[in-house]
Amino acid sequence: MVNDCIFCKIAAREIPSNFLYEDDDFIVIKDINPHAPVHLLIIPKRHIRSINDLQEQDKELVGSMFIVAKKMAKEQGVNESGYKVGFNVEKGGGQEIFHLHLHLLGGWKK
Ligand code: AMP
Ligand code: ZN
Repeated sequence: MVNDCIFCKIAAREIPSNFLYEDDDFIVIKDINPHAPVHLLIIPKRHIRSINDLQEQDKELVGSMFIVAKKMAKEQGVNESGYKVGFNVEKGGGQEIFHLHLHLLGGWKK
């Protein structure tokens, strides 16, 4: 838990939010400013600033993030139509919240 980190506070339920999914390692929430009809954020509960801060021992966590993304895509009904997943990394990469999160975007009309 890092002070003044909004995603740490959401994960710790200090800021109210609607979790679409939760397990020991992750929460999934809807992006507050969606860029697609479906725009979810897969957020590890542990504070990691960005991809730049990943360690060898985070391999399993990162792999699990994509498994959660895959499950959420199916649950949201975008698995067959298709979707994008991605990380913004640091300011130049468009990162605004410096707590690792995977964007999942989909649901555009065909
Ligand atoms: P990034 O630019 O990759 O750091 O993405 C941060 C994302 O978090 C943005 O798309 C924001 O719209 C989203 N966001 C910021 N605050 C909240 C919040 N309280 N709940 C849900 N999403 C948020
Ligand atoms: Zn954090």
